[in-house]
Amino acid sequence: MNLSGGQGEWTVAFECDDCGWYYRQQAAPSQELTCPQCGISPATIPPAWALEQGCPVCGCRHLYRRKDFNQLLGIALVGLGAVLGVLISYWFLLAFSLLDWVIYRRIADLAACYRCAAELRGVDGTALLEVFDHHTAEIYEFKPAGEKT
Ligand SMILES: [Zn+2]
Ligand SMILES: [Zn+2]
Repeated sequence: MNLSGGQGEWTVAFECDDCGWYYRQQAAPSQELTCPQCGISPATIPPAWALEQGCPVCGCRHLYRRKDFNQLLGIALVGLGAVLGVLISYWFLLAFSLLDWVIYRRIADLAACYRCAAELRGVDGTALLEVFDHHTAEIYEFKPAGEKT
């Protein structure tokens, strides 16, 4: 697999450090990321960037792979299925688990950064990343998106 260059279109999604605005931007080598809300630029994509160099926003070498969907949706679906299953029939539980599995299989992977939580979509090599690891996350005191202190 070619990891250097030849990328298709890819995007960076990032929560602005300054104003907290979450935005997704089409990314390309040497491009500056800019918050559409407050105009602050957290980073410029390195000129010959490839995934193996780490996060294009903060330079962190630790990235992980996860499914590009609201994980809560999947959990909620199974949870709803479980409730209906207990109340009505276990067939519901089975049906919802199946639905969840089908949805899961269809969703593409994205790469995310442990340190700055940037999300990279459509980048070559994403499939080679490790999945989320709590021990690595602890090193960076990483908090999943949406969890505020
Ligand atoms: Zn901002
Ligand atoms: Zn980062």
